[in-house]
Amino acid sequence: MEVLKLTEKIDQKLGERINSLKAAILDRNTFCVTWEQIPGRGAFEMQQETVFDNVAKAAEIGRIHAISVTDNPGGNPAISTEMLCAEIKKLGTEPLVHLACRDKNRSQIESMLYGLAASGVRNILALTGDYPSPEGFEGKPKPVFDMDPVNVVRLVEAMNKGLEHFAMGKKVRLAPTELFVGVCVSPFKQLESEVMAQYYKLKKKIEAGARFIITQIGYDARKYHELLQWLRLNRFDIPVLANVYVLPYSTAKLMNSNRIPGCVVTDKLVAELAEEAKALDKGKAARLLRSAKLYALAKGMGYAGAHIGGHGITSDMVEFIITKGEELAKDWEKLVPEFDYPQPGGFYLFEKDPKTGLNTETFSKRPSKPSPPMIYRFSRLAHVTLFEEKSWVFKMLRPVACWVDRSPRARRVLEFLEHMAKTALFHCLNCGDCALFDVAFVCPMSQCPKNQRNGACGGSYQGWCEVYPNEKKCVWVQAYDRLKAYGEEKTLGDYIVPPCNWELWQTSSWLNFYMGRDHTAKRLGIRPPEKKGAERA
Ligand code: SF4
Repeated sequence: MEVLKLTEKIDQKLGERINSLKAAILDRNTFCVTWEQIPGRGAFEMQQETVFDNVAKAAEIGRIHAISVTDNPGGNPAISTEMLCAEIKKLGTEPLVHLACRDKNRSQIESMLYGLAASGVRNILALTGDYPSPEGFEGKPKPVFDMDPVNVVRLVEAMNKGLEHFAMGKKVRLAPTELFVGVCVSPFKQLESEVMAQYYKLKKKIEAGARFIITQIGYDARKYHELLQWLRLNRFDIPVLANVYVLPYSTAKLMNSNRIPGCVVTDKLVAELAEEAKALDKGKAARLLRSAKLYALAKGMGYAGAHIGGHGITSDMVEFIITKGEELAKDWEKLVPEFDYPQPGGFYLFEKDPKTGLNTETFSKRPSKPSPPMIYRFSRLAHVTLFEEKSWVFKMLRPVACWVDRSPRARRVLEFLEHMAKTALFHCLNCGDCALFDVAFVCPMSQCPKNQRNGACGGSYQGWCEVYPNEKKCVWVQAYDRLKAYGEEKTLGDYIVPPCNWELWQTSSWLNFYMGRDHTAKRLGIRPPEKKGAERA
């Protein structure tokens, strides 16, 4: 009887949940609007109260489908997004939770997702997240980046199907959730390698199960169009929301000088904003009109919605953007020349269409002819010789590997030798679940501060890493250039790399491969060697 009551309760809870954001995003006749809130640090501050005030006003306007809440924005600590979103849900408004991979490991992400699902919050925006800022308690926090958004999407998919796991030796399947997960992309990058790295990663996100996309901040119509065209040509039928950020002059200067990672504002746009800022209203009317025009452009072009954001914007401003944007959407083509902000030498995937100012369906030339470094040539050769299952060297070494694996002393010697060699060549950190092969032999554990194993984060700038601008090239830019020299750059989108298996930490990755334990061996179907009779017993 008790069990029945509990089951009924669960059924009732499941039945109660109608997701109006999901319905709006997926409905082709609705132009979905979300409004981004940026909560601050502390529990009892004005910024948090403003969020709730905005939620109430958004409900009054009745044209906003969800309130989205950022997760420790800019890598700074802030009140928890999941707590705010659960409160927003109680107020009757649909929340969209930003989930940054920066501060949580996979267990924490899973806990958070189940907590959200249990409180009726189902809309998730999976992000890599900006690198932690130095503003944490007693200094810069430890960056986590245990999972990337591709794997968060995979986790959500598994949870939606009913996550299976082992408890007390038995397989258990959890009740399915109804999470609705989206991802971000930036088509606004400057270099060919950066743009393509974004698209290859987006392919993985979509194939993992992402249900919608929100763009990064940018103001180039041709780039907005490029993303839709890339999706169409790849037959990805997925709704995209354009990021309509209300841009004041002060923020534009920060974005232009790469002090807000991933947001692209060109010199030309900054100059225009500088002029507008001389007006009596300090450019307020002009920036609202620009936002309404971007809204109109997105709607006309075929975007599924607008993600409206900006510091200190009010419900009146949001309402203006929607109303004016709807009015202008009919003649959206006329607005294209007003969003002509190419970057110097910026790469576009398609040729420009002189008639529309947007793109033709012809792919543009990709002139870069990178020359791969010696270490890459050597690594390819070593890989083919030692780590191809079909090679005679592999076949010969496999029994040796089995013997080494059984002998603690021999294992320690191999671990030492491997570590020496790979530290010298690749700055190896000994993760034991080697991803060198996945990133053209650039180690994502030591060379990418966010340990991105599936593609670039959104923060690279002119090819440089978000965290080390003008110092280190993004590992995915390096990987693209290396592969392109062999005509293999497309392989960057070929398969999804799982998160690092920390059970293998500080063990020999060579042995893990030969013994079928690491992710590459599993992907290639290299099985652990059969155990002999005595060992089995
Ligand atoms: S190396 Fe690339 S992917 Fe990694 S943090 Fe830097 S910009 Fe992001």
